[in-house]
Amino acid sequence: MRQDPEFDVLVIGGGLAGSSLAIALAREGARVLLVERERVFRDRVRGEVMAPWGTVEARRLRLLDLLRERCAIDVRYLTYHFGGEGESLDLPTAAPHFEPSLAFHHPVMQETLIDEATDAGATVWRPSRLVSLFPGRPPRAEITLDGVVKTITARLVVGADGRDSQVARLGGFERRTDPDELLAAGLLVRGQMDTADGVNMFISEAAGQIAAATRIAPDLYRLYFFHHMDAIPSRLSGERDIEPALEYMCDAGVPKEWLADATPEGPLATFDGAHRWVDRPYRDGVVLIGDAAGASDPSWGSGLSRTLRDVRLLRDALTADADWPRAAAAYADQHDEYWVRLRDAERLSAAALMSVGPGGAARRDRALEIFGREPELETWTYGPEANCDDAVRAELLA
Ligand SMILES: Cc1cc2nc3c(=O)[nH]c(=O)nc-3n(C[C@H](O)[C@H](O)[C@H](O)COP(=O)(O)OP(=O)(O)OC[C@H]3O[C@@H](n4cnc5c(N)ncnc54)[C@H](O)[C@@H]3O)c2cc1C
Repeated sequence: MRQDPEFDVLVIGGGLAGSSLAIALAREGARVLLVERERVFRDRVRGEVMAPWGTVEARRLRLLDLLRERCAIDVRYLTYHFGGEGESLDLPTAAPHFEPSLAFHHPVMQETLIDEATDAGATVWRPSRLVSLFPGRPPRAEITLDGVVKTITARLVVGADGRDSQVARLGGFERRTDPDELLAAGLLVRGQMDTADGVNMFISEAAGQIAAATRIAPDLYRLYFFHHMDAIPSRLSGERDIEPALEYMCDAGVPKEWLADATPEGPLATFDGAHRWVDRPYRDGVVLIGDAAGASDPSWGSGLSRTLRDVRLLRDALTADADWPRAAAAYADQHDEYWVRLRDAERLSAAALMSVGPGGAARRDRALEIFGREPELETWTYGPEANCDDAVRAELLA
């Protein structure tokens, strides 16, 4: 005899994507099971500086106050430094979103949201992990908890398990990837830096290199060094590369005094920037959100915002239509529609600002001038709403 699923939604992964969705759907009265494999969240070098369009999504998901109370600070300015000069955009007064950036230590944010998922009424299993998945109507999954394998059925399984999504693999989704080009090295440090309430981007005079420094908690700072793989072929990682990484950041323009007493508080790790995604992140009772659906290039800092947009789109689709396969398919269409625009804008930024070889620096200089007069090109502030007409595109890529 066929039994009704015991949960409405089984969410795999308690990161920003999974916990936010669990909160949003539990608040709507859905029976949610959230499965997270980590007992304690650690620094895995993930996003900690959310763009203003992510702040908008956090507000629409009714998460903004919670984040501000428990883990996030507002960051007011986006400052591009080039050739010793800094130019700041005052985010709360800047089109199109008129919101500040939010910064937080990623593991603290994860802890905050997974606790809130429980408070909102979701069942949380942790540490617990997905073992196998059987798509269908309803989909079924095997999950380990306390060394025992349990079989769970749900109306919908949500893969929120990050950029190497097992749900995507087991669910039969085909993953697509852009060619390797940019690399992102991240390091968390403790210290005192006069970051002037800004997301500070330092564009190196050497082609294909950008450093970033942002305060994410009273004396914690997230440092990034983004580079084209032909500018610096090595992948900076581990203790022995910390010194060279800090030197590259200084060469890109980060003031030496900022880094003078910076003490590492986590691993130095480098990630590929290539976009990786699935087309139509819904099939056969299984839907993907966040990095599982599409991981964008960390160089352009849209991952957290994109993740919250997925959560909001899926929540809205599921609460508007009782036919969940149809609702999840509608979400997948909306996801693809904005993903195509975002990826295109970010690849254009990469080509314009991070080219190497003869002419790379000249193209970057021209791009900076064009970005200065066309603010809608700036993907971080505009997100998928970034806009570039054919004439400007041709000028950027000339
Ligand atoms: C180097 C780097 C820098 C970045 N910088 C920025 C930035 O400045 N700004 C920005 O907006 N974004 C940035 N991002 C992107 C951002 O971190 C991600 O887009 C965001 O964290 C995605 O959230 P998620 O919940 O989809 O995935 P994740 O954060 O990867 O969470 C997935 C969760 O699923 C759990 N999990 C995985 N597999 C299983 C399993 N089988 N069973 C149970 N649980 C499982 C994991 O433990 C984890 O908790 C950066 C990313 C990288 C790599």
